[in-house]
Amino acid sequence: MSHADPPRRLQRWAAARGVRLRGLRPIARERGSRSEKVLFGLDDGYAVEAVLIRRVDGHTACVSSQVGCAFACRFCASGRAGMKRNLAAGEIVEQVVRLGPRVNRIVFMGMGEPLNNYDAVLAAIRILRDRRGLDFPTTGITVSTIGIPKALARLREEHLAINLTVSLHATTQAVRDHLIPGARRHDLGEVVDRALSWAMRHNRVVTFVYLLLPGLNDSPADADRLARMLAGRPARVNLMRWNPVAGIALPRTPDGSLALFRGRLSRAGVPAVVRDTQGRDIEAACGQLWLRGGPGPRHDQAALRDAETRR
Ligand code: SF4
Repeated sequence: MSHADPPRRLQRWAAARGVRLRGLRPIARERGSRSEKVLFGLDDGYAVEAVLIRRVDGHTACVSSQVGCAFACRFCASGRAGMKRNLAAGEIVEQVVRLGPRVNRIVFMGMGEPLNNYDAVLAAIRILRDRRGLDFPTTGITVSTIGIPKALARLREEHLAINLTVSLHATTQAVRDHLIPGARRHDLGEVVDRALSWAMRHNRVVTFVYLLLPGLNDSPADADRLARMLAGRPARVNLMRWNPVAGIALPRTPDGSLALFRGRLSRAGVPAVVRDTQGRDIEAACGQLWLRGGPGPRHDQAALRDAETRR
């Protein structure tokens, strides 16, 4: 991977639209078996991580949309330090450019909640897909969100053939409020309805992500409630195991529980698969990206070591 500067033509084109594409500096990288995590320094001293994941048919860029995150999901590293700031559209596009020309899929699954930085994320997607921008196929772009109802309503009206993934993780309001404290104001039923409404409007299928946590959300009753919400609707379910994060004590779901949960969904007619995320060997899998650095000129090894000792 080159991490090269964005081409001048692209920089000029973006600048004419008020988007600056020279705000990122690669300051560290870590290679795993099928993924590579890059730490990008920002102008104000913060840093964000992005991950390049190798697939059989290309490479996926997993990009960040915010520095930190306001939603504080119990299983996620990114939300632990709170929300610092939104990334600008240029800072999002530049992560993709610097991850290299082999990228043929982009997922907004890095640090931050993309729909909580709606305008910049949508502006970035428009630059990525514009013929004079990166000419990236919109169908290769996935926005992964916890499902902010108002933002989903806005997204429904956009003329964008992206893919949508909604992290549900619960079938009752109480469990969801516990797992995603920052989403307590979001009614679970409304999240599901808005996501399905997006799918029907765009003639697509929405993917609901469900992180199975033993004793919390993995009972047969949970599977049956989830099936009732989604059966016969344009929806599929990705079941996930938790990726360990230092300092967070949560149990991992055994394979048998995953299979039982999946079986109940499938028998009810809800397509469900078990998804293992790439990058666990370098702590770059979903929910493992950390907030690094802080305000001020801290793009130095000392700052990185500080960050490392906090891990
Ligand atoms: S899982 Fe996503 S929404 Fe939740 S804290 Fe992490 S980055 Fe934020």
